[in-house]
Amino acid sequence: MEKTLKKYFPLFVLPTLAAFIIGFIVLHSIFLRQAADKRHIQEMSNTFIKLAYNDIMTGTLNKKALKTYCAFVTEKQDPERVSAIIYDIDDFKSYNDHYSHMKGDQVLLRVSEIVLRVLAQSDQYLFRFGGEEFAVVLPNATEDEARRVACQMLEAVRAAAIPRTDLPDRGIVTASFGVACGTKDELRDLSLAVKADKQLYLCKSGGKNCVAAGGALAVDRDAFSAEVTRLVEACPNITVHRERVERIDESAPILVATGPLTDGALADEIGKLTGDERLHFYDAVAPI
Ligand code: GH3
Ligand code: MG
Ligand code: MG
Repeated sequence: MEKTLKKYFPLFVLPTLAAFIIGFIVLHSIFLRQAADKRHIQEMSNTFIKLAYNDIMTGTLNKKALKTYCAFVTEKQDPERVSAIIYDIDDFKSYNDHYSHMKGDQVLLRVSEIVLRVLAQSDQYLFRFGGEEFAVVLPNATEDEARRVACQMLEAVRAAAIPRTDLPDRGIVTASFGVACGTKDELRDLSLAVKADKQLYLCKSGGKNCVAAGGALAVDRDAFSAEVTRLVEACPNITVHRERVERIDESAPILVATGPLTDGALADEIGKLTGDERLHFYDAVAPI
């Protein structure tokens, strides 16, 4: 009996074992395939989401993404204030007419890349608002902070010096920037965008290639003061003293130009000397 069992045992066991192994392989490959399909579906859905929210030509986010982001900021972040920057390429129609629409597309892409690099420093998004108009939303940023970001964007576009010869007074591609600050409600009902757009209009009517905020054209404070310092130092009739000044020497004609860190005593002295009607304050948000 035992001998017979030993003889026929492999005949029963081996096919069963083989069936198990084959079954395991088949099931395993089905599971693997299902996992791959699932991964594929996930990748596809990620791609569709990306396509739904991205502007393919410029690598920025689209208007639908802007609406979603605005809803997220107002409902989830609940910021005390929000600032917005809207920019628009200067004389872009003329560029298209002169160089072709395709070259115009390349400029849109280049300017977007330049601005995206500026915004990457502060993890902010860039949205294509329409045509050649783009927008940035800065939750919690003051108008002054937003103006500074816009000035960096302006300078970066200028520094790239993308050439153009279609207009006699514009050798490079430039853009104009409108800045506004408001409440989250103004962000939600789009009145903040309207405010920023009004500032942009101010820029366009003020000669373009600039930033407007708070109803006035603004300058990049650092670049402006560096340029003024350079010009003053280059002037042969001017001796530069870098020291604390509290009193004004009235023995010679005087031109006083001071900054926001002016000593209190000196500010009083200037006021006494000039009288209110001749004392003017210029700063970055005042027309220059
Ligand atoms: P301004 O300085 O006042 O902004 O003048 P502009 O010529 O830039 O403005 P205008 O509104 O007259 O023209 C905008 C141009 O932008 C016209 C339109 O063909 C072009 N434009 C809009 N979207 C695209 C795009 O996706 N690609 C290209 N190449 N051009 C575009
Ligand atoms: Mg334009
Ligand atoms: Mg436009």
